Amino acid sequence: MTTENCPIRLVIHGGAGAIRRDRLKPERERMFIQTLSQSLREGYAVLAAGGSSVDAVIAAIVVMEDSPVFNAGKGAVFSHEGHNELDASIMDGSTRMAGAVAAVRTIRNPIRAAHAVMTKSPHVLLIGQGAETFAAEQGLEIVDASFFYTQHRWDQLQKAIAKKQIVLDHDLVADSLTDNNEKHGTVGAVALDRYGNLAAGTSTGGLTNKCFGRVGDTPIIGAGTYADNQSIAVSATGTGEMFIRTAAAFNTAAQVKLQHKSIARAADNTLAEIAAIGGEGGLIVVDANGNTAMQFNTRGMYRGMISNDGIARVGIFADTELLVVS
Ligand code: ASP
Repeated sequence: MTTENCPIRLVIHGGAGAIRRDRLKPERERMFIQTLSQSLREGYAVLAAGGSSVDAVIAAIVVMEDSPVFNAGKGAVFSHEGHNELDASIMDGSTRMAGAVAAVRTIRNPIRAAHAVMTKSPHVLLIGQGAETFAAEQGLEIVDASFFYTQHRWDQLQKAIAKKQIVLDHDLVADSLTDNNEKHGTVGAVALDRYGNLAAGTSTGGLTNKCFGRVGDTPIIGAGTYADNQSIAVSATGTGEMFIRTAAAFNTAAQVKLQHKSIARAADNTLAEIAAIGGEGGLIVVDANGNTAMQFNTRGMYRGMISNDGIARVGIFADTELLVVS
């Protein structure tokens, strides 16, 4: 028996939030759709050539990190102090190895650094300057911090500062977490390769106007990212604090593994727990049988999927069908 007919799947997201049709300029919408479809194509090329789910996840995420429209890599949001501080993680469902970086300012593709932590170090999570030194030692591309600057995100920060002032005390943090219009845009990917192996990855700039030292769910294994061949691969986006408090990614996997919930039901249950404590966002999921889900409790989620037929489908809003893109 060959593996060529085995299911391959790639599901991606580019963030969930209060995406408003009337505020999304056609030109920006086109850029989102183009980048999502390119991300799917790059990831699919890896899977179709017999590559691993881990490599497909990296290929898909790098496209979105390199695009200025998503809140990851180039185009990331700014912290209150005016820095781009990036978080990313990856997990291999076949070995349950995982790697992550947090609060890095000079690594061009944080998802590659997360992968290097997973494969080239005995650790799971490296932060800040240590993570940057490690990435440089591994030969990853290091850029000047100004590389990540975009006018759009800078303007967003100025608006957030004018509206919220400093986001330091608990109430103000809670406020800023729920008023998320245009603040999201985290990217993620989950994949199943033809050998039956699952992988998940997520990359973000975090939240606009986040306070110094703040780290969300994205680099936390079990919160923003999780993969286990015995259950699912899952990547999250949304109000990170609530995703950490509900162990969102592992929570979803545990419901599938232990309670035999369908993947969509499990993700919806997790999102309901998150909503109950004042959070919102989305989860993308794939299992080893090739079932996929893209669940969210916001107005929209930038999302897409591709399977054996190589037809890429993408969507943004909750109330419209996925669009087939060439
Ligand atoms: N979950 C990310 C964070 O809290 C943000 C997002 O998904 O937009 O850092």
